[in-house]
Parts: sequence; structure tokens; C-alpha cells
Amino acid sequence: MWCKKTQNELRIDKINKEIKKKDIKTPTVVAAIASCVILIWEQTVVIFCSTFIICFFLSYIGQVFFNDPIFFVTWIFSGNPTPDKEQFGICIKCKNTYTMNNTCPCGGEIESIEYWKWVDD
Ligand SMILES: [Zn+2]
Repeated sequence: MWCKKTQNELRIDKINKEIKKKDIKTPTVVAAIASCVILIWEQTVVIFCSTFIICFFLSYIGQVFFNDPIFFVTWIFSGNPTPDKEQFGICIKCKNTYTMNNTCPCGGEIESIEYWKWVDD
């Protein structure tokens, strides 16, 4: 069943999120892939290095501000800077799951799933 997270668990979640934001592994991988792809068209060191640097920064910015290391890729291909990631929530009264923009038939408020955890009965 769904249980509300304790203050302590919410604090740990927040710390983990901060650590994930500052992590440079994903931006490095994204930049490495992008610069290797660019090698198909341009086999020069300058292009390879500048692609790596540019992509690394774009990816890092995407990760820090939008929680998505490939934010700029999504933006370019979907034409939408804020892709609709369906956000789920839990009804505080009957504890059923809904998408955040729904209202529960019981009249309870939908709260973001971030504040809840699944516990086996
Ligand atoms: Zn409900």
C-alpha cells in the first residue's frame, strides 16, 4: 500500500537529487556520443573537441535546470522545451494513483508521488 514518506526520507531524497544533479557522468557520455557521431561528417580534432565541449555544457545545463541531460535534444526534435512527462500522484484520501491533472472521484486531493512510497502489506 502507499504510505506517506517521513520528513527524514524526504530529506534523503532531496540530497540524492542534488548529488545526481552535480554528477558529470551522464553529460560526459552524452558529449562523447555526440562528438563520435560528428566524426562521421567531420574528421578533425578541432570539430571533435568543440562538439564535445559544447555538448557537455548543454547536457549539464539540461541536467541541472530541467532534470534531463538530453533536454536540448528533446527540444530540437519535439519542438517543445518542456516535454510532458506524465506526473503521477496519489489521492490523499483513498490512496489510488492518478495523473497529476486528474481529480479523484472521492473528492480527495492528488499529491505528487514524490511524497509517497510503496510498502508491502
Ligand atoms: Zn480518492
